[in-house]
Amino acid sequence: MIRKLIRRVFKAAKNGKPRIIPLKAHGVSRDQLSPCALKTTGALQQAGYAAFVVGGAVRDLLMGKTPKDFDVATNATPEEVRNLFRRSRIIGRRFRLVHVMCGSETIEVSTFRACENGVENSDRQSDVTGRIVRDNIFGSQVEDAVRRDFTVNALYYDPASEEIWDYHNGATDLKDRVLRMIGDPATRYREDPVRMLRAVRFAARFDFHIDPATRAPVAELGGLLQNVPDSRLFDEMLKLLLSGHALRGVHQLRAEGLHHGVMPLLDTILEQPSGERFITLALKNTDQRIAQGKTVSPGFLFATLLWHEVLADWNSIQAGGEHPMPALFQAMDSVLGAQEQKLAIPRRYDAVMKEIWAMQPRFLQRAGARPFRLLEHPRFRAGFDFFALRCESGELDMDLLRWWESFMHADSGAREQMLVADAVGGPKKRRRRRRKPAGEAAAPEAAE
Ligand code: ATP
Ligand code: MG
Repeated sequence: MIRKLIRRVFKAAKNGKPRIIPLKAHGVSRDQLSPCALKTTGALQQAGYAAFVVGGAVRDLLMGKTPKDFDVATNATPEEVRNLFRRSRIIGRRFRLVHVMCGSETIEVSTFRACENGVENSDRQSDVTGRIVRDNIFGSQVEDAVRRDFTVNALYYDPASEEIWDYHNGATDLKDRVLRMIGDPATRYREDPVRMLRAVRFAARFDFHIDPATRAPVAELGGLLQNVPDSRLFDEMLKLLLSGHALRGVHQLRAEGLHHGVMPLLDTILEQPSGERFITLALKNTDQRIAQGKTVSPGFLFATLLWHEVLADWNSIQAGGEHPMPALFQAMDSVLGAQEQKLAIPRRYDAVMKEIWAMQPRFLQRAGARPFRLLEHPRFRAGFDFFALRCESGELDMDLLRWWESFMHADSGAREQMLVADAVGGPKKRRRRRRKPAGEAAAPEAAE
């Protein structure tokens, strides 16, 4: 009976007809959409176009999660969409999309696009590896479903009828927690190697099983990621790191053989024995913050990823006779300079990273006015969280962390009592004697 049903659904999808799932079978009602998504689809439908909520939002709603944004697919061209909404603009080069804005919300509206396989058209361009670099061929909804990446990402929700249109058996895969590529996986990875990263990211985020056929070509095709522009790789890595499942994600990338020599940022994350504990803690911490609904600053995260390189340089420059603060600044510049090309971390994050790093020596100074001044630093919280990771990972003594925690929560009288002339429980004696005079002179202006 079930097998018959599956066969029927599969056949329907093959013939280009979707399986239409009614509200009572899926339970997602239109009031679960954002007002802007409703308004956008409503206006398009009113004007006689087809309009569906599609992709991640439908998938998330079916899993009982709140979508972070809504994408809409329509048969209206970008210009037609643009003309319907006063607050909208056409964006994108690789794909042309329309952003429709209501209040602070933005809905991404894309026109149904034709599938990528076997379509001869002068408006589709691919490079020598088969990677599609431009793709603006409009098509039918069936074709639009075929060119999407995974079956669970190809579900269309019609807000008017509250039906889900399922062309690739995505609803069943979602129930079974399977991530399955639409079409021939190897071909789809060649068209867009980033899909390999997306597979890992979604599997980690939802704890889905990657279907064996979808998984198999990844080991062999991982090298194609080298042809992807740095900025796109960086964006994808950032999504993974901020997905709420960064730790599972980076380990899964390693398991798929997708890090070594392919993505320098991941080499940095996974191949530094001295910093492994620190980075594992930092990723765990990031995941926890996201689970608690707190914000995560990418700059903070990058500061953690590069810290052990800075630390190694800092130590060696000091061993050459340089004073601690100038040595730290030299180390920061040399690490950031070397990483810029390799990791493609945009320069806009440099200031935050430097600020967090430059604050670190100041946590060792617990005498006089210095700890009070540090508390007033506008980014004290970020500096402190970073310092806490250093202590918890075993780099610094936990007593130091406990001291700062008490100091932060004490009233001003009690704080005076707590000041420590000598950094008890701080860095090792030999380092303390060398560090202190220079650190005292240079630290305050260094980070203020
Ligand atoms: P997220 O919750 O991370 O935003 P998402 O599924 O919405 O997940 P998006 O990157 O926002 O992912 O893309 C929206 C939809 O566009 C996807 O669900 C998928 O259908 C399609 N899509 C995105 N990137 C690709 C790609 N590289 N290849 C094919 N289809 C894609
Ligand atoms: Mg999305």
